[in-house]
Amino acid sequence: MTKVTKAHLVIRHKALECIGCCLCEETAPQYFRMDDNGMAELIDGEAEGVFYKAVGLKMDQEELAEAEEGCPVDIIRISAQ
Ligand code: SF4
Repeated sequence: MTKVTKAHLVIRHKALECIGCCLCEETAPQYFRMDDNGMAELIDGEAEGVFYKAVGLKMDQEELAEAEEGCPVDIIRISAQ
């Protein structure tokens, strides 16, 4: 995983609870895509417990916050690390 600096955010996604609404892919397609089963996956995500984790750019904070707030099952977390 890319080293996390002040220019980065950490994205966590609890993929197992996804209901496949597509909102995160529509909001932040550089970080989320729908898989062959119609569920969202975090692009380049690495497993961390029940979450997948990846690094995002701070310049994409607005789109990521929108994905986090919009997810109907609340399984996206954006944080500083
Ligand atoms: S917004 Fe949430 S429920 Fe909808 S596809 Fe993305 S992760 Fe799944």
